[in-house]
Amino acid sequence: MRDRPGDQLAARGGRLLARAVLALAASGLLTPWVGNARAADRPAWQAEVDAAMQDDPRTTMADLQARLQATQAASDRFWTLLALARTQNQLEQSADAVATTQQAAEALRADTSASASQRLWLELAQLQVGWTLATPADAQARLRALQPRVAAQTDPHLRCEFTELELALLLDIQSLDEAWLAAEAVERCGRATGSVEREAGGILSLGQLVRKGRGSNLGEADTLFQRAEQVLGNRPARQLRSIIAWDHGITLGQGQRWDAALARLREAQSLSRDIGDSAGVAAASTEMAQLHLQRDQPALALPLLAESRRLLADTDGGYRLPTVARAELQALARLKRPEALAAIDRARRWDTDTLPAQERARLVRAMAEAYASQGRFAQAWAEVQRSDALLEAGRRQATDVQVNRLQARYATAQREAENAALRHRSETAQLALEAQSARQRALWAAIGTLGLGLAAVLAWGWRAFAQRRQLADLALRDELTGQPNRRAVTAYAQAQFGQARKLGVPLSVAMIDLDHFKQVNDSLGHAGGDAVLRALVAAARSVLRGQDRLGRWGGEEWLLVMPGTSVAELPAVFERLRAQFAATPAVGVTGPHGCSFSMGGAEMRADTPSLDALVAEADRQLYQAKADGRDCLRS
Ligand code: GH3
Ligand code: MG
Ligand code: MG
Repeated sequence: MRDRPGDQLAARGGRLLARAVLALAASGLLTPWVGNARAADRPAWQAEVDAAMQDDPRTTMADLQARLQATQAASDRFWTLLALARTQNQLEQSADAVATTQQAAEALRADTSASASQRLWLELAQLQVGWTLATPADAQARLRALQPRVAAQTDPHLRCEFTELELALLLDIQSLDEAWLAAEAVERCGRATGSVEREAGGILSLGQLVRKGRGSNLGEADTLFQRAEQVLGNRPARQLRSIIAWDHGITLGQGQRWDAALARLREAQSLSRDIGDSAGVAAASTEMAQLHLQRDQPALALPLLAESRRLLADTDGGYRLPTVARAELQALARLKRPEALAAIDRARRWDTDTLPAQERARLVRAMAEAYASQGRFAQAWAEVQRSDALLEAGRRQATDVQVNRLQARYATAQREAENAALRHRSETAQLALEAQSARQRALWAAIGTLGLGLAAVLAWGWRAFAQRRQLADLALRDELTGQPNRRAVTAYAQAQFGQARKLGVPLSVAMIDLDHFKQVNDSLGHAGGDAVLRALVAAARSVLRGQDRLGRWGGEEWLLVMPGTSVAELPAVFERLRAQFAATPAVGVTGPHGCSFSMGGAEMRADTPSLDALVAEADRQLYQAKADGRDCLRS
């Protein structure tokens, strides 16, 4: 589901295989071992359904419905209903998904051999399909409550599913830094369980996070979307690919690469059309329309929006309809089309407090523009005021001085407009005329001020986000040197460890510890010592390769992760770093700093059980290097 990456469901296996399994199972041929294996476990065919769902959820849904007709066993009914609910959810048919989950709950009650694992799968599904109905706090509490029970289970798919829900929640509550870590966890989880679609889904979420958060770094989002597609390889995954193309299109649009953006959105649309996913087609149309609006081509936006509206009427894509309504109002207003009034009436349906205040404010503001385009200034003015009140409600804790100043200015414009309204009641034509122009002036002044207010709010939001980003950075970076901290470098090493294992490429790690650093501190002072640490980092940055990563392990100890490097290459690495470090001045220290380091290296072998074991080996080698007189490498 677009913009709801939590709904990127688990997936594994090919669609054709899945269909064959479903067909066999429906015909009863598989029942002996599908039904009886171990009722407690999630049957293996569920993973195939997950993969099929990421390709063509509609067909998968039909297959599951057929299977449901053919199946009698309570446990089998349960798993089929669960998969059906997830597919409906994927298709944004939330009401159906909720109903199907209820049926699954009944099937489970009827099953005397129901297991704890089945109950957990059910609860995760209930949480997922009821997502939009629950408040974030509720959802969070329920997820927290489930955590220990999930942790007690051994099924890796269950844990992955849980992590994905966690990601969805974190995205929902805008906890973007934590969401980032969760998305990385989903990616890892997908790789660990051999679920290419889930892995790609995790990367997709990372791309979405970059796109939403760091407007200045669209290149990074670009790369992530491309990587997600690479991970999918030759898997069909049309539904997932459509979402990736859609997000990529929006990203390109943000970078004003219009043609490329439109091409990607068209690709998304055609994939969605291919699998009969009207919500997806509508989502692509809506974004294309927004691009046209941004390029001041409202006439091109209108037919796309009409299509979106028509398509969304058939789905539960309700959360997208207000956006469509707003864009339609803007397009009609700019074209000064009389249909703007009918569009306002239509938009009223979304103008309720179920819409988040900020979004509602934007919708109401578009209504004001539409009224103004038809010369209905009094109504336009009323909507501007309402939009402002809504913005205010959405803003709540904004204490920004600049915003306050704008509000004061806005209050002046408001008084002017009220005076204009009074004058309007005057009987004389002359006064009416004056009133009209005054109202118009006030309206435009207010709209202008509101625009500035909006900009201030956006700036404020951006700052808040940047602060959060900074916090996230703090959580992953060492403050003194800006290098990855222990947590971050461990995560990187862990990922590389898995990758090297999977691909059979070499991986080496090294522990580095500065020699006699206490003495360095004594002779250069603590600030001098800090400068020496920074000099090491500067040296490492200039000699290490792109995939190498140096993280601060603690104090003056460092972990160096070197993917693709064998132990035979370590002496060269050591010598390069050693020479560069000696030649790099420590800021504030006159002359060479004269400090050296010892290094212990280890390469992953076929029998290395874990990353911890690999690091422990490097640590042993470091001790050896120290014992052998320091300023040397042992590996
Ligand atoms: P060795 O060659 O055996 O490693 O000797 P050493 O003096 O380096 O011994 P050890 O590793 O035990 O001491 C580390 C010292 O590094 C102790 C601590 O004061 C200093 N240190 C740790 N972190 C920092 C830091 O952030 N800045 C500075 N200036 N010093 C630090
Ligand atoms: Mg030390
Ligand atoms: Mg030391």
